[in-house]
Amino acid sequence: MTDAAETYERRVLILPPTRKDGDMTVRLLRSNGIVCEICDSLPQVCRELEAGAGAVLLSQEHVLSGGGANLRDVLRRQPQWSDVAVILLTPPGPDTATTIDRLAEIGHMTLIKRPVQLANFVTTIRSALRDRERQYGIRDYLAERNRQAEALKEAVERANAGNQAKSEFLANVSHEIRTPMNAIIGLSHILARSSPLSANQKKYIDTLQTSGESLLMLINDLLDVAKIEAGGIEIETIPFQLDRLLTEVASMLSVKASEKTLVLSVDAVDVAGRWFAGDPTRLRQIVTNLASNAVKFTQAGSVLIRARRDGDGIVVAVKDTGVGIDAGKINRIFQKFTQADSTITRQYGGTGLGLAICKGLTELMGGAIVAESRAGEGATFTVTLPWVEVPGPDGKAGSVPESVIEPRAHLGCLLLAEDHAPNVLVARTFAEMFGYTVDVAEDGRQAVGMWRTGRYVLILMDVQMPTMDGLQATRAIRDYERGHGLKRIPIIGMTAHALDGARDRCIEAGMDDYISKPFSPGDLQAKITRLLNAPGGISVDA
Ligand code: ADP
Repeated sequence: MTDAAETYERRVLILPPTRKDGDMTVRLLRSNGIVCEICDSLPQVCRELEAGAGAVLLSQEHVLSGGGANLRDVLRRQPQWSDVAVILLTPPGPDTATTIDRLAEIGHMTLIKRPVQLANFVTTIRSALRDRERQYGIRDYLAERNRQAEALKEAVERANAGNQAKSEFLANVSHEIRTPMNAIIGLSHILARSSPLSANQKKYIDTLQTSGESLLMLINDLLDVAKIEAGGIEIETIPFQLDRLLTEVASMLSVKASEKTLVLSVDAVDVAGRWFAGDPTRLRQIVTNLASNAVKFTQAGSVLIRARRDGDGIVVAVKDTGVGIDAGKINRIFQKFTQADSTITRQYGGTGLGLAICKGLTELMGGAIVAESRAGEGATFTVTLPWVEVPGPDGKAGSVPESVIEPRAHLGCLLLAEDHAPNVLVARTFAEMFGYTVDVAEDGRQAVGMWRTGRYVLILMDVQMPTMDGLQATRAIRDYERGHGLKRIPIIGMTAHALDGARDRCIEAGMDDYISKPFSPGDLQAKITRLLNAPGGISVDA
């Protein structure tokens, strides 16, 4: 603050009863080192007060002879930190109740009776100024705090924007990778079904398939990390059967475990047949990650997946008899891209993302994950989640089994709207395997035109296409159907975008379902079958 401004804020504004009184007061205050300024009228006092003052010294006559309302408004308009002292010189003699009331109506004032006791008078003004100085101190402190809060807010906004940009970049890159991956994985599925195949050809195709799938897993992991960091993961709470989930995970890993002659078992006695409310998809992801690590890092012995209830929650532990982890490294393994030591990648592969994702997801769901281990003595990873037991729904909710139904001829004709030739080949071959015939449109506009012929039982609609994209084409079809009272054709969106919003955009545009690329034949068949057999959908003669 400048000296001039400080002087301004320290000054005592004086509206004396007479000019002579004013001169005397100014002399007295100045001789005591107090800065002061004479005003000619109450409106002038009000103006100056708004510009800044240490205290105000007024004579009662001026205040009561008009302008009191103006002073009252100025006093009320003060900011929260401000409470300027108003010192009123009252005439000799007793004060009437009416006078006191009128003054109180204007604001809080310190009354000093004339003739004044000089020592008292100067002390009162000094203490008012000290008070005022503290108020200005608070004002400056608040201004500084506001400035800091503003700077912090800007920094957070910048960081969020950076994070957002990173997530968008990842989403775009992953889209670009998933598109050709759909062709690689899809075609390797198709090749695996062709015959005759020599033993070597079969091996090459198997390798192609597993390599494609591990590349896809890596992309999914990277996307998950980005989503967890950007807060873009939505957690659901639905009833599910915990023992069943754990058995499914174990059966998925049983081939790998038996290849290494490991005993892989599930102990879910305590939760057998019980239902819990939580996010089974995310829990499956976590347990799969922990159990496949356990199988990966165990050469001999066993892997046990155990679950029990604990207070108002559940505890799932994965225990193995493998290589274990050095005590010094155990805290680091939950960090991104961190492996216990540099030989791990060479020996076991992996990226060091799995545990970071497990931790991120567990914490998002309000739980905790801990690891206990000693080098050479196996490891136990324990996940605790605050998921309560709920009554199970009537009838068991089963997941759609990933089985491929044997081809049945003449199930009807599908319209495939897709511009990327390798993916046309994949989707067309899958659909033909299921027993459908397929017509292809190369963009949304063509798809709308072909749909009007009325030949199709269902549309597989790529989302990103030139000229008219899949969302626009779907809207056009739905508008036309509504306008002409036509039956709704089932539409499945296909996109290589794996972010949460992609599905919502498809459904909002009027699609019935959505499948993300790359997809397996089983995934696609399950979706087509579900829609064509759904009530209100089009039934197809088998
Ligand atoms: P990745 O397995 O891809 O390397 P993770 O994040 O899943 O990445 O694991 C990080 C590291 O933690 C692993 O590289 C390994 O060093 C250690 N680790 C994880 N699980 C186990 C386990 N069951 N036994 C021994 N070490 C483990």
